[in-house]
Amino acid sequence: MVDSIPVKSLPRDTGWIEVICGSMFSGKTEELIRRLRRAQIARQRVAIFKPEIDNRYSEDRIVSHSGVSLPSIRVRDAGQILDNIGDVDVVGIDEVQFFGLDLVDVCEQLANEGHRVIIAGLDQDYLGKPFEPMPQLLAVAEYITKTLAICMVCGNPANRTQRVTRNDARVLVGAADSYEARCRNCFTTNLEEVTKAG
Ligand code: ZN
Repeated sequence: MVDSIPVKSLPRDTGWIEVICGSMFSGKTEELIRRLRRAQIARQRVAIFKPEIDNRYSEDRIVSHSGVSLPSIRVRDAGQILDNIGDVDVVGIDEVQFFGLDLVDVCEQLANEGHRVIIAGLDQDYLGKPFEPMPQLLAVAEYITKTLAICMVCGNPANRTQRVTRNDARVLVGAADSYEARCRNCFTTNLEEVTKAG
């Protein structure tokens, strides 16, 4: 991650893209908030966006499962990020799996214009498949951090999000109790195995 790079080798006079991705319960939003707070402490101007679909906790903040939060702007689509960007140095975007592929061009444009762009989101859907637009963002990003959770069944490192309710919608904005973090051994795409009938 960027924090582990010697200061002398940090980019200057350019923008770049940092990706924080992983399963649910892996601390993605906490890591995003940590980086954005450090930028604010350095008196850099920060704008934070999240998709309108995600109003689980608060309408005007990004909030980690542990309750840490920062003020944010809700947008309906990736284009609205450009409309609301203002004069900032750093752009944070949370829950990017709820944006379409348009987000990739928006992030590229922001980085090309000199912004540090930090994005966080799921890298796999509930079937363990790559979750757009994350694969495309991983391809164009300068820095990638994969956060791991702990498997709620066996305690191994977990990078999958197990749905434990019987619902085959790809986007299910969710209460924590609809999901578990699981390792590859304990993860299953057969929801019959993990849900009770009825
Ligand atoms: Zn496991």
